[in-house]
Amino acid sequence: MDIILADYLGFCYGVKRAIKLAREQAGKDKQVVTLGPIIHNPQMVKQLADEGIGLVNSLDEIDKGTVIIRSHGVGPSVYKRASEKGLRIIDATCPHVKKAQMSAKTLAEEGYFVVIIGEKAHPEVKSIVEWSGRSAVVIEDVHEAEKLHFVRKLGIVAQTTFSRGKFKQLVDILIDKSNDIKVLRTICTATEQRQAAAEELAMKVDMMLVIGGKNSANTTRLASLCAKKCPTYHIETADELKDNWFHHIEKIGVTAGASTPDWLIREVYRKCKNKNKTCKVY
Ligand code: SF4
Repeated sequence: MDIILADYLGFCYGVKRAIKLAREQAGKDKQVVTLGPIIHNPQMVKQLADEGIGLVNSLDEIDKGTVIIRSHGVGPSVYKRASEKGLRIIDATCPHVKKAQMSAKTLAEEGYFVVIIGEKAHPEVKSIVEWSGRSAVVIEDVHEAEKLHFVRKLGIVAQTTFSRGKFKQLVDILIDKSNDIKVLRTICTATEQRQAAAEELAMKVDMMLVIGGKNSANTTRLASLCAKKCPTYHIETADELKDNWFHHIEKIGVTAGASTPDWLIREVYRKCKNKNKTCKVY
């Protein structure tokens, strides 16, 4: 049995940066909390909690100390409220997310009707809506794109972790919805690299293991892209591996979302290796 790792997998630049900022602040400050889980990975969030980095889901829950804005970003109302409360703000918004937020803001200011291609319920998308002055609409499927009425000026941005293929498909439909269109392709490179590497690998193996939080949009997306090419299992930890998955399997591909720490990838890799001592690893 061969185990092949995707060329790009695991922690991205934005997630590494957010965790570094949180840890640095925890070394200086007694009360450090993140607003929402710092990344969509329960195991990593637990590890940070053990290091003293707390978690609140709303600013109502704190009156002092430091609040860390996670890589997904927040809308302007959150910065305003945190400073009104006298909280120290450490802004760990990923620069790619910041770019998507500012792009939506600028488009709205220039009079464009802003469309965000992404998932409505995702915190990053909600923050982009807020930066657009709450005037943007979110489109996540073909049906919604087709339903959009004709507008004078149409500005399009993407959720940074959206599928590049689906973005293109939706832009192709939206192109008929205005005579003045500006498309800002705000999908981040880390996402594109992970998606392309996962798809390429999934075409060469008998089974894919996709490691990462079940609540992680980018990991779930990797799993659904791989599932179109071969049998795919989305797992958070090595404990979820089942013996019957490995029957008659010669090549296993492994990838992981941008919010999956290396130690979780290593655990899965080790456990797979132990299932067949003769396996080769690439
Ligand atoms: S996936 Fe991209 S946008 Fe999201 S945190 Fe990582 S680098 Fe930033």
